[in-house]
Amino acid sequence: MSRHRRLHLAPPFLLDDYTPRYQLLSSQSAARKRSEAYAHLQNCNLCPRRCGVNRFETRGYCLIGSSVSTSTVAPHFGEEPFFQGHNGSGSVFFSGCSLRCSFCQNHDISHTRNGFDLTPEELAEWFLKLQDVGQVHNINLVTPEHVVPQCVLAILHARELGLRLPIIYNTSSYDSLESIALMDGLVDIYLPDFKSFRAGTSKRLLKAEDYPEVAKESILAMHKQVGDLCFTGDGIAKSGVCVRHLVMPGKEDEGKMIVEWLAENVSKDLFVNIMEQYRPAAHVGKAKRARPEGTQASADPSGHGVRYSEINRPITGDEVEFVRSAARAAGLWRFVDDMGGHGGFNI
Ligand code: SF4
Repeated sequence: MSRHRRLHLAPPFLLDDYTPRYQLLSSQSAARKRSEAYAHLQNCNLCPRRCGVNRFETRGYCLIGSSVSTSTVAPHFGEEPFFQGHNGSGSVFFSGCSLRCSFCQNHDISHTRNGFDLTPEELAEWFLKLQDVGQVHNINLVTPEHVVPQCVLAILHARELGLRLPIIYNTSSYDSLESIALMDGLVDIYLPDFKSFRAGTSKRLLKAEDYPEVAKESILAMHKQVGDLCFTGDGIAKSGVCVRHLVMPGKEDEGKMIVEWLAENVSKDLFVNIMEQYRPAAHVGKAKRARPEGTQASADPSGHGVRYSEINRPITGDEVEFVRSAARAAGLWRFVDDMGGHGGFNI
């Protein structure tokens, strides 16, 4: 690889300056988005679960009504270095989720409604506190797929209050195309996961057989809006897509299929974070539940006595290297783990 190819901050990925997209939205487009957001809340088919419920009156699969429920709103230092910078990424962790991953690393938040409720206007005020008091580098909406209308209303309100920071949409990729269209013009950075490539794996581990197909079309739509990841000279990312893949035990072949698909179909200049922090969590490794008499337990590939025993172990270095090698072989070259000790910062 040439020296030039290792420069993540080099042109054409280096910006002189950056204005968030929501600042450039016309008042007509903003009004249209507001009314679409309210319409979706009254008949919610905004994620692939397509519950069709009126969220002012009841709740769907995601457990969340017309307000959002948040577990934490704070500067966060657990993100990629070019998102967290020196002052942190202004993260809003939403409770509830439209997926039910058996291994969810945040299951105490995502599989429940634990947290405090905020209206879109109150959420916007928190964005301003993160900006003005926290001095964070961006607003990071974590697991927003099921609260897209509320996020639209909050961003539009926050721009009137003086928000100037880029917005990160930090998603499982279990989004609908309608959601991604609604966020067009409001989001600067898409940070999508790509979790699994096979329908069978997705059905068993994510409880969403259609996940791979949904994730593919969502990521393509995100990339069409904002392109590859770009930075200002301080090393902070300002716009574009960065895809995350959490390497799973025994699933490195799916990791390979994912990075090959991304290189082939999205962009070879796509920024990719191949993550190695998997640990058994949520339902993984728990004792199997007693079944009603006469029914059979679902197939467990290893036949052991705990739930999801096939992923009840940490990943190995070989599994991570297998996926990373496959990504390099596919032509990808912008990786978080290749950024060196400076973390990509111009310091
Ligand atoms: S966002 Fe929630 S209510 Fe709406 S379709 Fe998805 S799971 Fe159902």
